Amino acid sequence: GRYTKQDIIRLVEEEDVRFIRLQFTDIFGTFKNIAITSSQLIMALDNQCMFDGSSIEGFVRIEESDMFLYPNLDTFVIFPWRPQQGKVARLICDVYGTDRNPFEGDPRYVLKKVLKEAEDMGYRFDVGPECEFFLFHTDDNGQPTTITHEKAGYFDLGPVDLGENARRDMVLTLEDMDFVIEASHHEDAPAQHEIDFRYDEALIAADNIMTFKMVVKTIAKRHGLHATFMPKPKHGVNGSGMHINMSLVKDGVNVFDDPTKPMGLSDEGRYFVGGIMKHVKGMMPVTNPLVNSYKRLVSGYEAPIYIAWSGTNRSPLIRIPAATKRGTRIELRSPDPSANPYLTLALCLAAGLDGIKNKITPPEPIGVNIYKMTEKEKKEAGIESLPGNLIEAIRELEEDEFIQGVLGKHICEKYIGAKKGEWDAYKAQVTSWEIEEYLHKI
Ligand code: GLU
Ligand code: MG
Ligand code: MG
Repeated sequence: GRYTKQDIIRLVEEEDVRFIRLQFTDIFGTFKNIAITSSQLIMALDNQCMFDGSSIEGFVRIEESDMFLYPNLDTFVIFPWRPQQGKVARLICDVYGTDRNPFEGDPRYVLKKVLKEAEDMGYRFDVGPECEFFLFHTDDNGQPTTITHEKAGYFDLGPVDLGENARRDMVLTLEDMDFVIEASHHEDAPAQHEIDFRYDEALIAADNIMTFKMVVKTIAKRHGLHATFMPKPKHGVNGSGMHINMSLVKDGVNVFDDPTKPMGLSDEGRYFVGGIMKHVKGMMPVTNPLVNSYKRLVSGYEAPIYIAWSGTNRSPLIRIPAATKRGTRIELRSPDPSANPYLTLALCLAAGLDGIKNKITPPEPIGVNIYKMTEKEKKEAGIESLPGNLIEAIRELEEDEFIQGVLGKHICEKYIGAKKGEWDAYKAQVTSWEIEEYLHKI
């Protein structure tokens, strides 16, 4: 590891850190934290920090509510945006139960379990995520809107600059926190942005996604903007995806790379694709967890609808980017940034390993634009569609025992229960689209 307990105690002292946030993620992907003062640091580093798990949605019942936080020392970082006197730092923690066993409702634990399985097969799982987001204005009460600075300031350079300045500040802040930023650019829709950080081992990548979202939101706010990772905040323009680029490394070599094979993708890589294509529907409640997630997965906005893969076309679910050696990878394009990154990566890896273990051969890659194929042609080519809404996705998860097993009984029950509730609440709504469409003519 990077840090010992002594290093952290010394850093906190030397840097005058006054508060430490102990962070963890609930099953729905929300970052939680408990702030302690530096006087409590040694107690926290000795895994003695306790909290009431019953107050966290999807965790535990009242009668078994004492949970413990076990900090991961290497996740120690000082927030660069906080005051330079009385600084604030954080540690990402694992959650343990009253019995001092890892808590099965901790998404980080779910990912660690699958990673252990990969490790037993000799694999390291590397992940490079591409997170897209929107920067919107807030109203006079500081509440988020879907108004963009760009639209509001079409003839005005100032407001346009605001988004760019915010993005630049985000990149610099992330670099201060040891992120390696590979690219940052404006995305297709007005006010839509993307910042790509370098791939890393999956557990670090998942921690990084959580940290990334926190930084983006924090810095946006300091620029008077609201950053949102909502998958489809605006009808009529692209939504935000979180493409997941994956490779497996064995003995320092990328096992997906084989220049003698089509698309430079090895047999292991092909089976990995096969496993993901087999399970992708059941994974959707996790990779695309909101009612709104499915508004992104419609035709015409660079988001996938069909279960297909390709080396050339950008529209399919899975793409093999043109790259070689270390860069050979599988890009899954369905996940969106509202997904829990720990559970998402756990499911991607588990599904891919299932493909490798059982030599699941994917269907032929599709070279043509699927959107131009007729229903009959798609049927003949065996191309299926992704679930069209949250309840269809939940039904797919209920059919996929393998994916249920990866999530574990505890998370499955809480997750499916909550998502059905979300769907029921949505189903009963009368939307403004319906009013506009029907009120005057029916
Ligand atoms: N925003 C698109 C999506 O919803 C992706 C655009 C891209 O290819 O980067 O996934
Ligand atoms: Mg993009
Ligand atoms: Mg991409």
